[in-house]
Amino acid sequence: MGLIMGLEEKLPSGFVLTTVEKLAGYMRKNSLWPATFGLACCAIEMMAVGSAAKYDISRFGMEVFRASPRQADLMIVAGRVSNKMAPVLRQIYDQMAAPKWVLAMGACASSGGMFNNYAIVQGVDHVVPVDIYLPGCPPRPEMLMDAILKLHTSIYDEKLGPNREAVIKSVEEAALNALPTHQMKGLLA
Ligand code: SF4
Repeated sequence: MGLIMGLEEKLPSGFVLTTVEKLAGYMRKNSLWPATFGLACCAIEMMAVGSAAKYDISRFGMEVFRASPRQADLMIVAGRVSNKMAPVLRQIYDQMAAPKWVLAMGACASSGGMFNNYAIVQGVDHVVPVDIYLPGCPPRPEMLMDAILKLHTSIYDEKLGPNREAVIKSVEEAALNALPTHQMKGLLA
């Protein structure tokens, strides 16, 4: 203990914590396990990424799509989210192991897409905090892999503990305070 404390005094401020954060980020980004969660057509592209035939995400330590949310830490929301499905999606998210991340795959999951109606949630960020949005209808498997690699980069740079919780809290608050999509005027104002 004395040696460690002595070492900390000699190191630049925050050096040890930064190193531990980088190490944790490195291990986390290389051992993401996605939850099996397909909602619509985008899920077909997600399945292509998961299969070993061509794209093979096992190269990134992600080959195991888990059937149980308790064994998964990445939710790929592949497809439109109906209002009826929203509480189920939230429950699955709550059951996932922390720390966890959400990838909104495709126009529908990110914003409701072409389904601007009462049945579809206008962006899954109204239900869970989203870490990365992937455009497209549907995004090609290469685009999903690119989004996953970008997410890896952000996981590697992520802060630990309370800092991560503060980020999630602020993202959730921003989503809750956002103007409901049906009240947005956009270019039609
Ligand atoms: S973005 Fe396109 S491909 Fe994906 S779920 Fe919506 S309609 Fe289907």
